[in-house]
Amino acid sequence: MTVLLTGAAGFIGMHVAESLLARGERVIGVDSLNAYYDVRLKQARLARLEAMPGFGFINADIADREAMLPLAAAQVEVTRIVHLAAQPGVRYSLVDPFAYVEANVMGHLVMLELARRLPRLEHLVYASSSSVYGGNCKLPFAESDRVDHPVSLYAATKRAGELISESYGHLFGLPQTGLRFFTVYGPWGRPDMAPWMFAEAILEGRPITLYDGGRLKRDFTFVSDIVAGVLGCLDHPAPANAPRVLNIGNHRSVEVRRFVDVLEEALGRQAVVVDAPRPATDVEETFADIEAIRALCGYEPSTPIEVGIPRFAEWFLSWRKGG
Ligand code: NAD
Repeated sequence: MTVLLTGAAGFIGMHVAESLLARGERVIGVDSLNAYYDVRLKQARLARLEAMPGFGFINADIADREAMLPLAAAQVEVTRIVHLAAQPGVRYSLVDPFAYVEANVMGHLVMLELARRLPRLEHLVYASSSSVYGGNCKLPFAESDRVDHPVSLYAATKRAGELISESYGHLFGLPQTGLRFFTVYGPWGRPDMAPWMFAEAILEGRPITLYDGGRLKRDFTFVSDIVAGVLGCLDHPAPANAPRVLNIGNHRSVEVRRFVDVLEEALGRQAVVVDAPRPATDVEETFADIEAIRALCGYEPSTPIEVGIPRFAEWFLSWRKGG
């Protein structure tokens, strides 16, 4: 069983690859190791994977069709794709909008073109995002909600990926599952995300910024729950002509202030808090309805923040000490 996994040097990608390798599958990782955040962190994740049997790596940009499409002939044994490579982050889309369209729209299209050329492909699972729900959906967010009001370019490009996938399912019978991830955190996390930025600032005695008094709420999902969900979905292919999109969250909406309280406790240090108004790219609350993924893929998240944050903090402290 060979899985092609894009974004293998990324936060979620590394964890998914480790679990696939641990259960004896071959994984071909693809990543451009771009400099959106600390490349040493990506290289350290990759080094962990390269130490495991069954892992192969291709350094390529998924939007580069000349590099990617020949993989269909070179990697005929691939039966499943996990496509996680993307330009993430809602706020950076105000800084470099083109990076989002290149990776998340063009890159997504190239992956679908590659997928339909692979002779043995059974299932493509790709990353979407809770951000597609935008600002005017009722809670909890359900897959049947209308998602036509993205409040960031990131969200718009993730929704574009879903729509392109829908057309490829219809036209080419490509079995696909899009997963709308809800704020993933854990060891080996991303330096541009709040858990990392908060932890770093708390340890260095710098202030952290909480929007609207910390009352914004997020469905924080621990990475090992996400990994179990990705593998569960991979093992339950969508029907060829009916691509599906599923929420994958923790089904618990937590105030950011509460997240910080638990982080302070785990780090043994108090945060210095500065208040600011919520940016236009951010929604007030995210909260996942997970009934569909439960029923279709056996997904059952089991990690509350009181368990997940100490695990993240422990890893973070060791990473800062030099790994
Ligand atoms: P990440 O940035 O850590 O991982 C993405 C990886 O993709 C990186 O290693 C990066 O180098 C690589 N990459 C980016 N553009 C590429 C390109 N054009 N070609 C090849 N490689 C490229 O992010 P992550 O948190 O692991 O997110 C994985 C996926 O999940 C992304 O699609 C992201 O949009 C989605 N997602 C994540 C979260 C979250 O909370 N972490 C939430 C919603 C959605």
